Amino acid sequence: MRVYFEAYGCTQNYGEARLMQQAIASRGHTIATTPGDSDANVLVTCTVVETTERKMLRRMRALAAEGKPLVVAGCMPAAQRDLVRATVPEAKLLPPRKWPQIVDLLGAGTVCAERAVDEEAQQGAWRDAIVPIAQGCAGRCTYCITRVARGRVMSYPLEELAARIRGYVEAGIRDIKLTGQDTAAFGLDIGRTLADLLRAVTAIEGEFRVRVGMMDPLTALPILRDLVNAYESPKVYKFLHLPVQSGDDDILNAMKREYTVSDFERIVREFRESLPEIMLSTDIIVGFPGETEDAFEKTLNLVRRIRPDIVNITRFSVRNGTPAASMDNRVVGWRAKERSRRLTRLRMEISREIHESFVGQRLGVLTTEPGKLGTTLARTDAYRQVVLTSEEPIGEFGVARVLAGREADLIGELTLTESGT
Ligand code: SF4
Repeated sequence: MRVYFEAYGCTQNYGEARLMQQAIASRGHTIATTPGDSDANVLVTCTVVETTERKMLRRMRALAAEGKPLVVAGCMPAAQRDLVRATVPEAKLLPPRKWPQIVDLLGAGTVCAERAVDEEAQQGAWRDAIVPIAQGCAGRCTYCITRVARGRVMSYPLEELAARIRGYVEAGIRDIKLTGQDTAAFGLDIGRTLADLLRAVTAIEGEFRVRVGMMDPLTALPILRDLVNAYESPKVYKFLHLPVQSGDDDILNAMKREYTVSDFERIVREFRESLPEIMLSTDIIVGFPGETEDAFEKTLNLVRRIRPDIVNITRFSVRNGTPAASMDNRVVGWRAKERSRRLTRLRMEISREIHESFVGQRLGVLTTEPGKLGTTLARTDAYRQVVLTSEEPIGEFGVARVLAGREADLIGELTLTESGT
């Protein structure tokens, strides 16, 4: 059987899409590269905002029109089951927590044991490993449909995760990404913490880097000291993805984020005090119902104060079935757009200034993927992206001299490779 996969959304969703592909390949089947040359198609959906939902519905219809068995996986079958059923009645639905059932759903039992072993050993053509560590979150955010889709926290066993990562490292993978809707919620249901997991992972022998995915301030706060200590391992990228969502406590309250702006600032401060090189990425929603000009100004001031390296900006989008969908003090579209533009200008200015300050420095890097026009993409120890001006092998450590800083990345030349040349 040839199975085509198409995935959208967050790293977690891509991670689950890969696990499904590995499960299919390990039964001796083949992963098709286009829906045209497959025997069955799998769409791994995201529904984080309304525009994404519309795109997913278009893709569902297009894949159904191929006339082959279709599985709709990812968040929509959990959060919008009826909508998916009405759009593609012939499709089979596979919510996120049930992804291991992909094999049974496609009727894809093992066809060739020898081939299966081969496929598993190859790990596909991926040069990094995406490792979902838990499903769901501990929050009650009033705007979030993911909560409906992914439910409460369900962590994968720590020992199983460590064993899987050991396997990736032994197979030569050096770029490991831990993902979850909220990585700091890992272990809440099994009496373990993200810090425990990081200690277990960084104890694995070998040269590799671990990137920790998004963590919620709500769950990061109670384990803060231990977490900062665990981050001190050179194997952990000094990268903190901590979404604040708003710089105004009243809006945070209406969002039911269950922390304050000063809690967020405390987490950032403690990380920066121990690990000054840390790169901070945050997320902000503009135009949440009830966001006044004054509240938005507070968000701008927070960004000026904290100077995050990255700010992911989303305009508030109504998601049916969430409490925020029935809030009536909406911000009109043009105003939300204008706020988004102002915040974007500010964040670009800050990112450029930060990146320009690196010019002339030499930074340790790990090459991660080929770039455009003979370049290579690499990551520094703080997970900053560097575009290297030459073609280099992937998965190698080296030292790069920074030639220029842009809003999104650095430009650099490799001055020393792992082999010392
Ligand atoms: S968890 Fe959120 S971002 Fe990730 S796929 Fe689901 S809806 Fe999209």
